[in-house]
Amino acid sequence: MFPRSDSPRVSIDLHSHTNASDGTLTPAELIALARRVNLVALSITDHDTFEGYDIALPIARAAGFDLVRGIELNSRLLMDGFSHSRFVHVLVYFPLREPTPEFHNWLAEQRADRRSRNEKLAKALQERGVDITLQEVEARGRTLAGRPHFARLLVEKGYVANFEDAFEKYLGEEAPSYVERESKTTEEVINLARQGGGIPVVAHPIRIGLARAVEHDVLTDLKQAGLVGLEVYHSDHPPALQAYYRDLAAELDLLPTGGSDFHGTVKPDIELGSGRAHNVNVPLEFLEGLRRFEQ
Ligand SMILES: [Zn+2]
Ligand SMILES: [Zn+2]
Repeated sequence: MFPRSDSPRVSIDLHSHTNASDGTLTPAELIALARRVNLVALSITDHDTFEGYDIALPIARAAGFDLVRGIELNSRLLMDGFSHSRFVHVLVYFPLREPTPEFHNWLAEQRADRRSRNEKLAKALQERGVDITLQEVEARGRTLAGRPHFARLLVEKGYVANFEDAFEKYLGEEAPSYVERESKTTEEVINLARQGGGIPVVAHPIRIGLARAVEHDVLTDLKQAGLVGLEVYHSDHPPALQAYYRDLAAELDLLPTGGSDFHGTVKPDIELGSGRAHNVNVPLEFLEGLRRFEQ
């Protein structure tokens, strides 16, 4: 640990998860940690839910701590009208305004859809003689419960040797118990975010896995569809890549954002505020940029 006098930086973290999605800390523990590591602002961006943020808000307010409402949504990338089975995580921030009732309704629908897909899959597996319940899957996956959690259970219970087997025999498109998964396209999610009063940002672009020229074109198209920001700083982005994405954001007129994507003990090498081996240090200007955009 560095003595406090060695770290005069004023930094923030715009990407973190609580145990309302797939993190391990409670919202109260996350706020306490954010204050301990001297962050001046934090966004809780759980997958598909505001539950963690809602619990954290009164705690943050009582402490005079700047908490920003956010959420992380998955989407399917379409290129040239075709789905290439690539997924884009979209962070949506609400730094000043509240989400519209329509946005809340849409989230509730998403959760209901996910639940009914999981119900169908559990039933299809039970019909094939597999002893698995929806409750067991949901206990592992919470708001994200889905096929990876089914796969983990199938391995744990000895039905298959590994994840690959689980998908091949039970969960994949070729398996007789396959249940189709629907997800919105990235453009649809961007639209819903904008109409819902939020600011959509492409999260950890490196994970989309596109070649640079293709990535440039995809982001250009998404910007035209209403994309506002690009996550420049992230635990998965080494310093050279952060510099690259910062230039790209400037070139495409996208607001730069950043965060550690902290999850707690499930990703022990990632620290709140500072990422992986201190590779993340997000300046307060990024949040000011988001707030200016909304005004
Ligand atoms: Zn993500
Ligand atoms: Zn995340």
